Amino acid sequence: MKEDDRTFTRTKIVCTIGPNSTSEEMMGSLIDAGMDVARVNFSHGDTESNREIFNRLRKVARDKGRQLAILCDIQGPKIRTGKMKGPFRLYQGDVIKVTSREVIGTAEMITIDHPGIERELDIDDEIFINDGIIRLKVTDRNDSELTCSVRSGGIISDRKGCNIPSSKISVDLPTEKDREDLEVIAGLDPEYIAASFIGTPEDVCKIRSTLEGSGNDSIKIISKIERPTALSNLSGIIDVSDGIMVARGDLGVEIPAYEVPAAQKEMCRLSNRAGIPVVVATQMLDSMIEHSRPTRAEASDVFNAVLDGADAVMLSNETAVGKDPVLVVETMKDILKKAEELFPFRDPDHYDSDEKCMIETIGHATYTLIGEFEDRDYSGLIVAVTDSGRSARMISKYRPNRTILGITPNERSAREMNMVWGVVPIFSKKVSTDDLEDRVIGAIRLGVSEGYLTGDDHVVVVSSSVIVGDSGMFAGVYEVSSLLQEK
Ligand code: PEP
Repeated sequence: MKEDDRTFTRTKIVCTIGPNSTSEEMMGSLIDAGMDVARVNFSHGDTESNREIFNRLRKVARDKGRQLAILCDIQGPKIRTGKMKGPFRLYQGDVIKVTSREVIGTAEMITIDHPGIERELDIDDEIFINDGIIRLKVTDRNDSELTCSVRSGGIISDRKGCNIPSSKISVDLPTEKDREDLEVIAGLDPEYIAASFIGTPEDVCKIRSTLEGSGNDSIKIISKIERPTALSNLSGIIDVSDGIMVARGDLGVEIPAYEVPAAQKEMCRLSNRAGIPVVVATQMLDSMIEHSRPTRAEASDVFNAVLDGADAVMLSNETAVGKDPVLVVETMKDILKKAEELFPFRDPDHYDSDEKCMIETIGHATYTLIGEFEDRDYSGLIVAVTDSGRSARMISKYRPNRTILGITPNERSAREMNMVWGVVPIFSKKVSTDDLEDRVIGAIRLGVSEGYLTGDDHVVVVSSSVIVGDSGMFAGVYEVSSLLQEK
């Protein structure tokens, strides 16, 4: 396969499933268009409908013979407005009361569903509603309500997200709702969960032990970075997470919007260095919820996320409630392909960990070996025969400019690899043999039969090797035709 003929992108596409994408037909079309990971958002819908969506996604992927990863997103301590009489507009200069008691919201008083908000906020503290569009400032308070003046107006309606950036609100993770959802999710067994409002490494560990307590220690945890505390604790959070999400929706309210791009770059850099997937999320092609073309700024945003080092980019409302989810994915794919043409050379030494492990060293070496392919004008790619998917991830970490076939006898690993930059997962029991030679030849045959390799190609093959024990690794360079002739 010539790299220029690739129909897939190296950067993975995460699609949020919502009212406009829950049919089998739409899910199938999204997979055909390039969805690598489907996100089921437990902030919305009830348990039964989320379970149905999950099972339908599994069925559609199975029917198509495709490896689709599923990411279940838990809400965390998201604070929301209560029920309203109907949507209404708040104007700058209006005065409105806020309470945690359950009231039917009007322009005079609304509920914000955080018990104790009246005592936790002080005069001059701010409340942001609906992605920060509405800004309230506390001007007076008593034990049962806050009086606020409206600093920026807008339409307000039921269950809109609220942010209180002064970080005064006490946050305990996982919340009661998270615990209930994690119990269900542990049974559904997705590849990934996205944990909202992570603040510290301990939060991640608590979520992991909740999942383990529900009998599931396989689900990988993507920590959503959306609070200033999480940015301060970023390295520690990365150490205990399986992936990071740049959750720009809430982050852009909790910190000034102009600080978000630098935070995104830092999250990508540190996640890339750790060799864990990083997802850039929210408002990537927002205008396509309504329109059939992205804005120039959105095209630039997606393009630059690739250059920043994103493993995956995420669509939220665009695919959940947008008017044409498939067109959005196709548009995303076009921008990603263009950006990948310009993907910059990365100094591999810069991505080595302080204490390199064997697999990481092989990842670095593979980058160097595949660089030789360019000098020698070789066509071909990288084959990682992997059980857990870790070696494919460590090769991906160095961002080689050839496709990485992640061939695994473990179906779960195949689905997980769908989140990892540059990796095309192939599930096959043919590579489960202990004999290294058979494994290498089996993997190359698969690459040929699946249409990724031809006799004219060369390959770098990486595999764990029983010859040198479980922790041993093997890397070799082969000419496909001569290897296949020999056997
Ligand atoms: C975000 O805030 O960017 C995000 C992805 O989280 P949610 O969509 O759950 O608000």
